[in-house]
Amino acid sequence: MPWCATCDRFLSPPTVTVEGTCPQCGRPVEAGRARPGDAPEPPPAGAERGPGPAAGEELPPVPRHLKFLGAAMVVYLGYRFLQGVEWVVHRF
Ligand SMILES: [Zn+2]
Repeated sequence: MPWCATCDRFLSPPTVTVEGTCPQCGRPVEAGRARPGDAPEPPPAGAERGPGPAAGEELPPVPRHLKFLGAAMVVYLGYRFLQGVEWVVHRF
């Protein structure tokens, strides 16, 4: 959180100017790491692509009732498909 010592208050990062100065007094603020001009901090070594799954990419396991529902739907649609094929065959 950027801190302006002159105004003695915290500043939300969007309110800090691009130059990293306080919009109230124009003085440079402390700990202005949220400035849009700065390069993002590099992640710590070994943090990217570790052996474990990346956070937010792995989906939770499919619930059992959803698997059962999917299997039942496949069976039912296959049955209806065969019925349709039989209907078409008997038409001609
Ligand atoms: Zn200020």
